[in-house]
Amino acid sequence: MSQPNPTSQPGTSLFSIDGIRTAIAARETTATAIAEQHFSQIAKSDGEVGAFLALSRERALAQAARVDALAAHGDLDLTTMPLAGVPVGVKDVLMTKGLPTTAGSRILEGFAAPYDATVVTRLEAAGAVILGKCNCDEFAMGSSNENSGYKPVRNPRDLTRVPGGSSGGSAAAVAAGMAVATLGSDTGGSIRQPASFCGVVGMMATYGRVSRYGLIAFASSLDHVGPLTNSVKDAAQVLQVIAGRDAMDATSADVPVPDYVADMQKPVRGLRVGIPKEYFGEGLEPETRALVEAAIEKLRALGCQVQPVSLPHTEYAVPTYYIVATAEASSNLARFDAVRYGHRAKGAKSLSEMYRRSRDEGFGPEVKRRIMLGTYALSAGYYDAYYLKAQKVRTLLARDFELAFAEVDAIVTPTCPAPAFKLGEKTDDPLAMYLADIYTVTADLVGIPGISVPCGETSEGLPVGVQILGKHFDEGTVLRLGAAVE
Ligand code: GLN
Repeated sequence: MSQPNPTSQPGTSLFSIDGIRTAIAARETTATAIAEQHFSQIAKSDGEVGAFLALSRERALAQAARVDALAAHGDLDLTTMPLAGVPVGVKDVLMTKGLPTTAGSRILEGFAAPYDATVVTRLEAAGAVILGKCNCDEFAMGSSNENSGYKPVRNPRDLTRVPGGSSGGSAAAVAAGMAVATLGSDTGGSIRQPASFCGVVGMMATYGRVSRYGLIAFASSLDHVGPLTNSVKDAAQVLQVIAGRDAMDATSADVPVPDYVADMQKPVRGLRVGIPKEYFGEGLEPETRALVEAAIEKLRALGCQVQPVSLPHTEYAVPTYYIVATAEASSNLARFDAVRYGHRAKGAKSLSEMYRRSRDEGFGPEVKRRIMLGTYALSAGYYDAYYLKAQKVRTLLARDFELAFAEVDAIVTPTCPAPAFKLGEKTDDPLAMYLADIYTVTADLVGIPGISVPCGETSEGLPVGVQILGKHFDEGTVLRLGAAVE
């Protein structure tokens, strides 16, 4: 088991975003010292965990020095720099200028991003210190981080188990105290599922709430960027910084961003909470069920009105997701043609051979499988049977949620059917891996916000997460219920 970072353990003042930024502003410590402590924790633990693909020491220390200079002159204003000195990690699907940005793929080995993703710009403007790039499944395709083109990530809570995926490095970095917060991406559960496996908080806001500019696209109608943190409050604080309209992303919503921390702190009494029976059926591991039910009882005890709801098309969500996601991926990944960037095969005798061999050498097996599945689903003759039908089922899933949200303010479910599995346990059976996404893919298909919050441990000491889903742009209620469960 990896050693926890003494500076970021619960109960110590430097555990939370609030603790760190106020200590820096009060000059009880410095952003530089905090950054150094986290780099030592990485040096100590990351050999066995594998959460980082690259470190950005120089950039981190320059940013920390800027924060420290402001603090030294009494000019550090936490309202404009709410993340002052907070050490963060960024999933490797996000562009970071001048730093390696590979999306966990060998096809982008050695590629340095020419610009920063909007979320990265916003984090740094808020004073955050970017420590490095977090490991992930190749192009965010996977649920265990075993599809990384570089190295697997191990779950800090049990090194024989996977951290989940695809944002496995982002979840493990927070769980092992190597970063106070990280950014992940969620296309079909990739923030919430690893958060659940590693015992941390993972928040996916409404589709369009957070800019995707500078996110390497997997499936554009499903992709979201969001935080992984130690607490719901930290998640609210990071979301506050990254949310909001961005002129560089036409799909980002022009909807005012409320005060998430204020929303989160309101009492939950009187909120109507729906429990969908379809999420508590066959396949849900008994200990996970018991822990999630205990979290629901806690909400009831706090005055929530708990009632059953039905989401009748749930059984079609996984097949729908794996058609829409692979179709969009096959189109998005066409840009990796070895012409302007990325791996180029040597010695090809024609342009088509160059394309073919570069892609064959650069992409891993899961990415190839997805490109083939997606190309098939979009091909003439099969389009109506697969892609068009999947889009229609997506509408039915959206209607399920609309009807449910007419009766309740939020929906509570398990995040995953079972806790973290062993490394290697599902690598030979991609279908088993896909089926475990059953509770998370719906929110992406429908575009609603969702959070995973730890709700206890199994008898083996493995963390379990409870998922809270809310109405479009109602992150406030999701965070509020998350804080209540926490
Ligand atoms: N596990 C899902 C997949 O493999 C989710 C991935 C994601 O959300 N990026 O596609």
